[in-house]
Amino acid sequence: MLKEKLQLIRHGKLTAEQNLNQFLEKIKKEDKEINAFLEINKNALQDAKEIDKKIKAGKAGKLAGLAIAVKSNINVSGMAASCASRTLENYKAGYDATVISKLKKEDAVIIGMTNMDEFACGSSGETSAFGPAKNPLCKDRIPGGSSSGSAAAVAAEFCDIALGSDTGGSIRNPASHCGVIGVKPSYGRVSRYGLIDLSMSLDQIGTFSKDIYGSALLLSIISGYDEKDATTFDEKVHAYHELLETPKNITIGISKELNNLTTDKKILEKIDSIINKARILGWKIKQVELGHVDLAVQAYYPICYVEFFSATRKFTGRLYGKKIEDVCGPEVLRRILGGSEISKAEHHGMYYRRALKAMSLIKKDFENAFKECDIILSATVPRLPHKIGEKISIENMYGYDALTIPANLAGISAISVPIGKINACPAGLQIMAPAFAEARMFQAAKAIEDLNCV
Ligand code: GLN
Repeated sequence: MLKEKLQLIRHGKLTAEQNLNQFLEKIKKEDKEINAFLEINKNALQDAKEIDKKIKAGKAGKLAGLAIAVKSNINVSGMAASCASRTLENYKAGYDATVISKLKKEDAVIIGMTNMDEFACGSSGETSAFGPAKNPLCKDRIPGGSSSGSAAAVAAEFCDIALGSDTGGSIRNPASHCGVIGVKPSYGRVSRYGLIDLSMSLDQIGTFSKDIYGSALLLSIISGYDEKDATTFDEKVHAYHELLETPKNITIGISKELNNLTTDKKILEKIDSIINKARILGWKIKQVELGHVDLAVQAYYPICYVEFFSATRKFTGRLYGKKIEDVCGPEVLRRILGGSEISKAEHHGMYYRRALKAMSLIKKDFENAFKECDIILSATVPRLPHKIGEKISIENMYGYDALTIPANLAGISAISVPIGKINACPAGLQIMAPAFAEARMFQAAKAIEDLNCV
């Protein structure tokens, strides 16, 4: 779909301005209900016109004419980077994050900043200080979180592609609930410079799109070593067509430990039918053991709380916005207070150090499993999305990420692809691959997309 659109643009059959205007009109009509955007870029039309001149002159970049939505925790010069929090509601970014500079260099138009869980703390989109986004495919349900607005914007066709961030599942979870593609790259694949931290040792910026092509194209542009982010690796960046090649001799790993964590067995039935189709491709199936993944949620939260507590110490109200504790919502406050407690000397060894230990066991599990298979398949989210406003326990809310957190703890790459609907709600399949094996992951995802599983 996106490939065809880019061709239309290149051949002058669709201008950047027309493409943008179609989206802006749709947003005007429908986003009052969906609430995917917190801010629309007032300069977008002007930017599109400039890009049209470049297209005509044959000097345009790879994303020329496409409209991209950006999660509100990524700095885009002159736009609000509020993190959907009252703390930063009046804060305007003074610079571009590295990913944004890269997009602009390829002539993308930034259409606007999207809604999200406050400071990316959440799995449903409901902790936003500006009201939850709705799931465009089943409107009484949550879109998932924390990158709720970016997923909803792609699903509602308010933009071509979008950026989000994923610390424990915040791209894959809403992608699964909204029926779109969501990619969490390997840790260190994409620069975090200009991303406002949730948990800096786990955060990664990634992509949303309607088809695999869109995410492959976007990822190939935002990836790569960045001297402004010491945690990026100097690994080969694949051109998008390499990410889309037909894979050979894939061995799929299946883990009963991950399947046991999947509470809605209908999701597993759908995945089984995909695995059966994959056999037609000649792919092999192997059981792999991930013996410690049931510890993932318990290991994740102490690490996340401690790093988030530390990251929020700059929000004193003196430099940026308001003092965070004075204005934030209950989930953010829980993490600040919890993070402060866990950081205390007497608790550090008991919680934080133990969490790091569990994290290294999970990492080792994946290293061993990937000796026996190329990719691991699981559900993306253990169950279907709840109704907006429905009261669910903190344990159940945290449990939404039971299947996605392991990839963040292990630093590996993972993607969620839509596998159709169950009770009118979309569900997702997660494909995990080793760190920096995004090519293998994308190739498998493309082959599954081509099987017409959706
Ligand atoms: N839902 C998880 C959390 O609340 C993950 C969030 C994320 O990936 N940003 O921490």
